[in-house]
Amino acid sequence: MPEQTIHILHLFPDLLNLYGDKGNLAALCKRLTWRGIEATVTTVTQDSKELSLDDVDIVFLGGGSDREQMTVAERLMPYKQALKDYVEQGGVLLGFCGGFELLGTSWWAGDIQTDGLGILDIHAERGEQRFIGDVVLSSDWTEQPICGFENHPGRMQIGDYQPLGKVIAGHGNDGVSALEGVLYKNVFATYLHGPLLPKNPELCDSILTRALTKKYPDFAELSPLDDTLELAANRFIVQNFSGNEK
Ligand code: GLN
Repeated sequence: MPEQTIHILHLFPDLLNLYGDKGNLAALCKRLTWRGIEATVTTVTQDSKELSLDDVDIVFLGGGSDREQMTVAERLMPYKQALKDYVEQGGVLLGFCGGFELLGTSWWAGDIQTDGLGILDIHAERGEQRFIGDVVLSSDWTEQPICGFENHPGRMQIGDYQPLGKVIAGHGNDGVSALEGVLYKNVFATYLHGPLLPKNPELCDSILTRALTKKYPDFAELSPLDDTLELAANRFIVQNFSGNEK
């Protein structure tokens, strides 16, 4: 019997599910179970009657088209204070692209400026062009550069918050600041999909370590895994950009 369990709440996988975001969930769960730690996942979908954050260790918000993102924004509005409290108390929350934008105060669904949940004081403007393609970041979180895929017209303004990383190749939050993503307490949000976590195992593990340390204050560290394949996938993408850095 595993002695430790991490419980993940997957919000609206029926609406927010672009670019293999489910692979992020698979990476989180597998990297726990490979270490003998139990991973359980509860989903809240359009058909769900309620949303409870009780006993949740990681909240997961993927990305979706503007229409779906708007539906999720409406459905989550009654829970915005509960989500904010969860974040302020150090709960781990992950937002990928559409999920990233929903955390802020506003974002654009086409030409309609739309309220976000306001969990973070960030907001997305809208640019004329979509930013589409592979992205490589350097980050304080990881030795290996982080790589992922972006596809968004949003131009995220994170103010004084800490970014996830610095853009080496690609566009990132807004195409001008050379910043990508945002980190706040145990909130981790980014425009990168792809999915992101299978090919960035250090990042996945640092998220898991935060969730485990929050739940089990005596938690020491994750045991190492053989990441040969994962790191080869990462290097393949990173090497495509060497020499093309910003
Ligand atoms: N809703 C935004 C869009 O359609 C973000 C999509 C995404 O999550 N990549 O561009």
